[in-house]
Amino acid sequence: MTNFAYHRPSSVRDALAALAEKGTRPIGGGTDLLPCIDDGLVQLSRVVDIRDLPGASEIALRADGSARIGAGARLADVAAHAGLREAFPLLTDAAASVGTPALRQMGTIGGNLGQRVRCWYFRRGVRCFKNGGGGCAAVAGEHEYHGIIPSGSCHAVHPSDPAVALDVLDARIEATRPDGTVRQLSVAELYAGAAANPTGEMTIADDELMTAIELPAAAAGGAQHWEKVMQRGAWDFALVSCAAARRTDSTVRMALGGLGLGPWRIASSVEEDVCSGGLDEESIDALAERAMYDAVPLERNGYKVEIARAVLRRAMRVLGPTA
Ligand SMILES: Cc1cc2nc3c(=O)[nH]c(=O)nc-3n(C[C@H](O)[C@H](O)[C@H](O)COP(=O)(O)OP(=O)(O)OC[C@H]3O[C@@H](n4cnc5c(N)ncnc54)[C@H](O)[C@@H]3O)c2cc1C
Ligand code: SF4
Repeated sequence: MTNFAYHRPSSVRDALAALAEKGTRPIGGGTDLLPCIDDGLVQLSRVVDIRDLPGASEIALRADGSARIGAGARLADVAAHAGLREAFPLLTDAAASVGTPALRQMGTIGGNLGQRVRCWYFRRGVRCFKNGGGGCAAVAGEHEYHGIIPSGSCHAVHPSDPAVALDVLDARIEATRPDGTVRQLSVAELYAGAAANPTGEMTIADDELMTAIELPAAAAGGAQHWEKVMQRGAWDFALVSCAAARRTDSTVRMALGGLGLGPWRIASSVEEDVCSGGLDEESIDALAERAMYDAVPLERNGYKVEIARAVLRRAMRVLGPTA
């Protein structure tokens, strides 16, 4: 067991001052960070518990229909929140599908977005691009659960289910800088360059703190759909997941998880065709085919392309209107 100090700040300022010191990281439920420390995947001298910071675990719906979720809100509370369930069922369904009940009780939504890849080479300390070595052990090895949308040296997939829902809901991730100013990132910006980043997946810097997630009013309501395909049927990571929404203004957004190092947003031309409606089974098939055109599976994970097409077809039927 590695020794490290534990700090429970009472203000964001105090947390940021602590994070300014090298070897310090925020901790939510610790369900990923602690195993990473234990397995020597990260060396830390101190962790900063963000859960008691003012507003960290709050979930607030505003009168205009938008919502704010503190980064320290537990996944179980996100999943069970009645107001969120009514306005953003896509997110509550995705949160409810994470791991086990115990994980959802401990894990925070911020920590879920910040968790590291599950690639078994990385987790078992095999030297590769992501842990101080070069190359990717998975390409010529066991890669059944790896990605099919290559965008850099790493072929792992990001395990977060809520990230896929948040992408479709056009969520903004709020990061507070060391000087206390705030910036907001889309989910795509949060994971930009993740497959080419040797030290992590998020673009939030070590001395910044993810403080909240903002959901826009325009994403509330309409038709929302979540599906997660797992090998074991329950308590498992997604082989492929699909988040889809037809907004009240009838525009359509669709994204897939389990395929790359962050949610994979479907091409806008496909979304626009789904938006136009009047789709028969033949055009649904053609659109699902077109959506997966850029997939480049490895030798043993081509089955993910088939699953992705199938979940997209189901999402299109749910979003309707069909012919
Ligand atoms: C058996 C198992 C099954 C799982 N299944 C799923 C699944 O199906 N779907 C899924 O989505 N996940 C799954 N997970 C992952 C699990 O959901 C995550 O471990 C959990 O969500 C992480 O939350 P946490 O609060 O414990 O994060 P922590 O372990 O506390 O932190 C994780 C990372 O995020 C960083 N971090 C935390 N909070 C902040 C912040 N506010 N600002 C900046 N950085 C921060 C930490 O520094 C750390 O690097 C599974 C995990 C296990 C072990
Ligand atoms: S997929 Fe990524 S984490 Fe896994 S071996 Fe390849 S580079 Fe390393």
